[in-house]
Amino acid sequence: MNCRRVTSLINEYLSGALDSKTTVAWGVHLLGCSDCLALFETYRKTIQAVRTLPSKDLSSGVRTRIHRSLEKRITYSSLVH
Ligand SMILES: [Zn+2]
Repeated sequence: MNCRRVTSLINEYLSGALDSKTTVAWGVHLLGCSDCLALFETYRKTIQAVRTLPSKDLSSGVRTRIHRSLEKRITYSSLVH
């Protein structure tokens, strides 16, 4: 599994959509790759922060902006690799 694949699977991993074989391959890469690990931590923290916000204060526009910025970050990271 390469960095691009790992970053593209972060969302699936967090939503529990990966099968066990893929989760293992994904985790092994993450443990050996500080770039992907850092990206994963950033992503996870952002998602947590979004979830703890009161939903009435978070319009769908804000959600979209957050998702866009995360996608940009992931795309950028994949390009760097
Ligand atoms: Zn990586």
